[in-house]
Amino acid sequence: MSEGRTLAVFHAHPDDEALLTAGTMARAAGQGHRVVLVVATDGELGQTRVPLTPDTPLGLVRRDEVRQAARLLGVHRLVHLGYADSGAGPAVPADPPGRTRFVRAPLADAAARLADVLREEGAEVLITDDEGGGYGHRDHRRAHRVGAEAARLARTPRVLEATMPFAYSSPRLITHRVDVRRHAEAKRAALRAHVSQSSPTMGGDRALVRCLRLPAPVFRWVFGHEWFIGPPAASAATGCIWPGRSR
Ligand SMILES: [Zn+2]
Repeated sequence: MSEGRTLAVFHAHPDDEALLTAGTMARAAGQGHRVVLVVATDGELGQTRVPLTPDTPLGLVRRDEVRQAARLLGVHRLVHLGYADSGAGPAVPADPPGRTRFVRAPLADAAARLADVLREEGAEVLITDDEGGGYGHRDHRRAHRVGAEAARLARTPRVLEATMPFAYSSPRLITHRVDVRRHAEAKRAALRAHVSQSSPTMGGDRALVRCLRLPAPVFRWVFGHEWFIGPPAASAATGCIWPGRSR
């Protein structure tokens, strides 16, 4: 069944989608909608213990990981904007040869690249990061600004900001709570696909590693909803992401 609607999701790094929007993407794909994931950078400055070589730098590893995660979620198209990770350290490192750190890219340029994808796809909804960038990573905050500007350029009808109730954003701002319990195992698989960030032996975040070991019912309870800030929903409990619809 194809309903002919398109959801575009924009994040700064590979794995941001697995934590914040994987369930919503799997749900939309499962309902017959087209799902397009756009990632700004290859996450090359992430922490990991994955053995790396000059031929397999972390950015390449993480691009493969997000490709695998996207496949598991039913994403129809994955686009990389090709920016370099700006990192989470106190200063933004120098640009690597031939590429620009995402936060240094002119807003208009990055937004135009994303807007091209939104127009090509006729996206009705764009999901991006919230204003505070979740835990505040500079690339996440930049993704918020780039997403907003791209949606304005492409006249995308609806923008939703992915967030969490315990993030910087007040829970009062949350307008959409999407029930993704049926897709919790797809979300878990997507998180696991990011081996360099989630594997216990590859230096994965310890809290995340513990979460990935939870029994299915507990995992479903913890990861069974995703939250968004956007225009007021007819019913926040139903979590309908589409304009003018009830599911
Ligand atoms: Zn990130």
